[in-house]
Amino acid sequence: MPNHIELPFGLKVLPDRAGILSSSFIIFIWLYGHIAVFIPIILPHHQDGNISSVFVGGYLLLSLCTIVCYFEAMFSNPGVVPRIATQNIDWRTWEKCKRCCLARPARSHHCSKCGYCVLEMDHHCQWINNCVGRGNFRIFLLLLVYASSFVNLNIVIYHLHKWSWLGVCEACKEQWWMDPLQNPMKSFSYLIAIIAFVGINLLLCLTGLHITMGMTTIETMEDPRSVMKKSMENKRKCFPTFSQLTVICGTGNVLLWSVPCRKVSRKTDQRTHIV
Ligand SMILES: [Zn+2]
Ligand SMILES: [Zn+2]
Repeated sequence: MPNHIELPFGLKVLPDRAGILSSSFIIFIWLYGHIAVFIPIILPHHQDGNISSVFVGGYLLLSLCTIVCYFEAMFSNPGVVPRIATQNIDWRTWEKCKRCCLARPARSHHCSKCGYCVLEMDHHCQWINNCVGRGNFRIFLLLLVYASSFVNLNIVIYHLHKWSWLGVCEACKEQWWMDPLQNPMKSFSYLIAIIAFVGINLLLCLTGLHITMGMTTIETMEDPRSVMKKSMENKRKCFPTFSQLTVICGTGNVLLWSVPCRKVSRKTDQRTHIV
């Protein structure tokens, strides 16, 4: 990983200022969900018996899965093209990268930020400060699903609570964050909620669309007309097919697809001999 710096425990991070700032903002939004919803609403109403322990446990599990997926996506290998002896290469499906001069299979791309070629590169994601490719697309998709669920759940709880008590909540009335008219923090909370809601749900929908078309983000940007064509072909498909998901999530037990930090066995690509 040429452009990365080594951290303890064998972790590598890209020293990109924009990427580090963006990823810090994402971690702040995750923390803010706890500051604006978990501490002022869920905890007091768990203590007064309005929210069950099962719900609190589910909320914390969703929060944990979101942040674990986030760090896994950030530090995982996106699928750096391995060095392969040139005599073993089928040049009908491979090509030489003009940037790093290494042989790479079809659908690989060179990331100028990371400084290497990535197998089935989807895009370089500033928000996780890492590339998204064959090696980490599953965990990236899982992150989008968990993060979208976490953001949407926080927004629903906040509004349900507001509409249920209409400002005279016994458990929360003395806390500053429930006094919105006199405190600018309410506007800040709404701004954060709108950014998080639009950003994560839009990204999840776009990624789902690319999966149904079997194309990466880079491929759809290189040939936007094929997006329209494939969208028309797939107009009856609202969700990715099961076989398209097995390519990403592996062929193992479907119930384990949602588990982070799991090694997934994928079919070997016959053209490239890459697993
Ligand atoms: Zn390259
Ligand atoms: Zn990259």
